[in-house]
Amino acid sequence: MIKTGTFVVPGVFLSTVEEFMPGEGAYEENGKVYSSCAGLVLVDLRTRRISVFPAAAPPILKRGDTIIGEVEEVTPQRADVSIEILHGHEGRELPPPRVGTIHVSHTSKSYVRDATKKFRVGDVVRARVLNVGRELVQLSTEGEDLGVIFTKCSRCSTPLEVENQRTGKLKCPICEKVEFRKLARDYRKGVLWGE
Ligand SMILES: [Zn+2]
Repeated sequence: MIKTGTFVVPGVFLSTVEEFMPGEGAYEENGKVYSSCAGLVLVDLRTRRISVFPAAAPPILKRGDTIIGEVEEVTPQRADVSIEILHGHEGRELPPPRVGTIHVSHTSKSYVRDATKKFRVGDVVRARVLNVGRELVQLSTEGEDLGVIFTKCSRCSTPLEVENQRTGKLKCPICEKVEFRKLARDYRKGVLWGE
């Protein structure tokens, strides 16, 4: 049986009239109940009605989209990113797959041998979607507008400051630790998408 919260388009079979009567956003035809609008299903077991409330379709990731995510793991070959925000759909929860990976070859336009020299766990990155697979999204941070937009010192957790934008050199204002990242042009400007 269809569940409360399922997203449906118009004309989707919801139940038989023996099970449920059509409520708002639903209609009956030949003993079957169908959705009459796009939206979220509400199954009311008490009144035995099934309704559909209009809602926008959930955002879907596609090639060329820009996302904000957090680095969860880094190996020399790749950085794994949990995808948090999709450009144009801020504040909306994304359907799976929400796990992205930046392969070392898509880190930067210049050659990078080891992704652990460009990312660390906890970095907030802006990346572009290269490909959406069933379980994994391939991401790229090639380009000046893409890369790390916020990070903290791995020793004392103070937000790191830029020493050299071109080389990605960062320095901790408290403990003076030096670290390197693949920086976005607007690192630590507090903007999600740049100009
Ligand atoms: Zn520090």
